[in-house]
Parts: sequence; C-alpha cells; structure tokens
Amino acid sequence: MIVAHRKNIQDLKSLLAQHKRILVLGCGTCVTVCLAGGEREVGMISSALRIAYKLDEQEHDILELTIERQCENEFMEQIIENVQNVDAVLSLACGAGVQAMAERFPNTPVYAGLDTKFIGILQEQGIWTEKCAACGKCVLGEYGAVCPITRCSKSLLNGPCGGARDGKCEVSPDTDCGWQLIYDRLKAIGQLDRILEPAPMHDWSKSHEGGCRKIVREDQRIVVK
Ligand code: SF4
Ligand code: SF4
Repeated sequence: MIVAHRKNIQDLKSLLAQHKRILVLGCGTCVTVCLAGGEREVGMISSALRIAYKLDEQEHDILELTIERQCENEFMEQIIENVQNVDAVLSLACGAGVQAMAERFPNTPVYAGLDTKFIGILQEQGIWTEKCAACGKCVLGEYGAVCPITRCSKSLLNGPCGGARDGKCEVSPDTDCGWQLIYDRLKAIGQLDRILEPAPMHDWSKSHEGGCRKIVREDQRIVVK
C-alpha cells in the first residue's frame, strides 16, 4: 500500500487560512489502512482545525467527507455538489489522489493534508516500512523477493558494501542490512547461485528519473472517433 503521514495541524491551519469553507476529504483505501487519511482521521483533523481557528477567534466552516478512492473519477463524481459548496478542499489522499482531485475540480483549490511517504507494509503494530521504490523494472525474482533497491541503503545490486555489523546496516543500527536479508533468503530457498555472478546494470530509464511515467494498454483503451 501507499503509506502516508499526517501533516502538522499548525501548518495546515496556516495553509488554509484564506479559505472560510473547507472540505476535509478522506480516502477509503491505502491511507485509511495506514491510519493517516481515512474517516477517523478526517474527524480528528477537522476537530483539531476547528479548535485551532477558534482559539484565534477566526470563523471557518469545516466540512467532513470520505470517499472510497480520490484517484478515480467514478468516486469523485459523487461529491461534485459538496466541492462546489466550499472554498477549498483539504485532501487526505496520497499525492496521486490530491492531484486527481485538482484535475477533476480545476477551479477549486485542493491542498495536501498528508505527506506521502512510500510503498510499504505494516511491519508491526504502529510501524510501517518501505518495501518498493516503484523502480519500473522489478528484479525481486533475482534476489529472493528482497528488494535491493529499497532494502539496501545504497541500493546496491551487487552487494554487500562491507559496512554491515551484526546484520545491521552501517547507515543506521536500527536498519537491517538489505544484503544480509538477501543472502539469508536466497540461502533458505536454495538459490544462492543467483548472486554468484555480478548483476547487470539496472535499467533506470524505467524509473522516475526518466520523467513522469505512464502505462498505455491499447487493449483497454476506448478510442472515440
Ligand atoms: S525492484 Fe523495483 S519494482 Fe521491484 S520491489 Fe524493488 S523498487 Fe519495487
Ligand atoms: S550495510 Fe548492507 S544495507 Fe547498508 S549499505 Fe551496506 S550492503 Fe546496503
């Protein structure tokens, strides 16, 4: 899932100060699961904003709503009237959802209420960890399903670097050495031979460094003539 984290209330308060009627809009998928931007957080952030403005004796109407997904038109269509009745939207979606909302409602200011962090998982209660940097050319098959790009602090495809101590990365003793994980995993599944030869250069042209990416599926397109 996409993992995000709530922005500071004081920062949001300043960001939205010029708007009197504000819709705080949650998203029902990834950001709900990572406890950052779902219905519960819409309520928490809305209450915190009301209190913050009230303490400053400022009048603001804060409205609350959550839709299934902010990155899909089908769900955005359900809230056209709600958006038309406010001065601004504080979106608690990931960065994609915020931009989708801004594209769908070009005349309404849309602000990000979250910092979108990474693609990751709930590692344990209260701790989310990054697992994928969406490099565009997945090599998990060669590394025992441990991502060298994300899990090694230096993104080494031919590791380790030699700096690990007791299985921890030299960058931080709190971080597992990605290459220790790769080695242990390949050993466990009997595939250590996969790292006997140097890996070829990674195709970074498929990553974000090659510019804004898109996928075109001709079999899925509807071309109106
Ligand atoms: S190799 Fe690339 S696509 Fe695969 S998990 Fe790692 S960052 Fe993600
Ligand atoms: S110690 Fe391990 S995880 Fe850290 S940079 Fe070196 S190889 Fe990568």
